[in-house]
Amino acid sequence: MQTGLFSTRLLRAHGMGRADVRRALATGALRRVRRGWYCLPSAAPEVVIAAQAGGRLTCLAALKSQGAWTLDSAGLHVRVADGVSVLHQPGVRIHWTPNRVGPGVDSVEEALATAIACVDFRALVVAVDSLANRGILAPVRLQAVLGVTPRGRRVLAVHDPQAESGIETLIRLALRRHRVRARSQVVIPGVGRVDFLIGDRLVIEADGYDWHGDRAAFERDRERDRELVRRGYVVIRASYRQVMSNLDDVVSAALDVIRRREHRWRAIHRTQLSESGCLIDLSSTKWRIPES
Ligand SMILES: [Zn+2]
Repeated sequence: MQTGLFSTRLLRAHGMGRADVRRALATGALRRVRRGWYCLPSAAPEVVIAAQAGGRLTCLAALKSQGAWTLDSAGLHVRVADGVSVLHQPGVRIHWTPNRVGPGVDSVEEALATAIACVDFRALVVAVDSLANRGILAPVRLQAVLGVTPRGRRVLAVHDPQAESGIETLIRLALRRHRVRARSQVVIPGVGRVDFLIGDRLVIEADGYDWHGDRAAFERDRERDRELVRRGYVVIRASYRQVMSNLDDVVSAALDVIRRREHRWRAIHRTQLSESGCLIDLSSTKWRIPES
């Protein structure tokens, strides 16, 4: 991974003497990070902060910098070798290690192994879903890192590579706490894939976008809602903001629908919808969720 960080030794190896480094610093082509280390102006700020602190980016911040979706509340976590003097900065947490570590970013495996023992369970599953869904870490490597600790194995048991966004993971975990099983990314004929299907007909859709910025997606989702209702589905749609700030309300709406047993096809649906040709193949919905 290119970090935009260079040690004095590396700059020398590329033919830059002291005078060249001074000129580069004067023109802004290089910035001094700490003793013996420099960076390009384009270097990622979090990597530079980690280097200034005395180590390298690790944990969720390192996973995020390598393409994973993560919950941002954790702050920047930095791996620092025992005995190194640390520059304490707000929002930076230190993970001490007996090994020597240079500035930069932990590998995905190293960062994940650190996160297992550090961040809360929900944040860990969000990151692992994202690593799996985006193909950042192959299933066999995911298994190798997570399979060695009890906590990692619990994450493996509930992770879902189908989850296309962190908010989908949060919804799934919240439903799971109420013992509600939701199938993710289910294909409904005439509509396409929905984020979650509960029972036969309760659909939950999570909007991972800001509608001001993606008008086309906003319009398309309203069209999908209309088609789902036409086919007899009950649709709960939640925005990114609603999931992040008020997930309990989203889940409570789903639980109310389930308590009224409106997540099941009823005889009237079978008769009326099959006449209109809209009812989905019931043979695919034989499984049952635990009652809440
Ligand atoms: Zn950490």
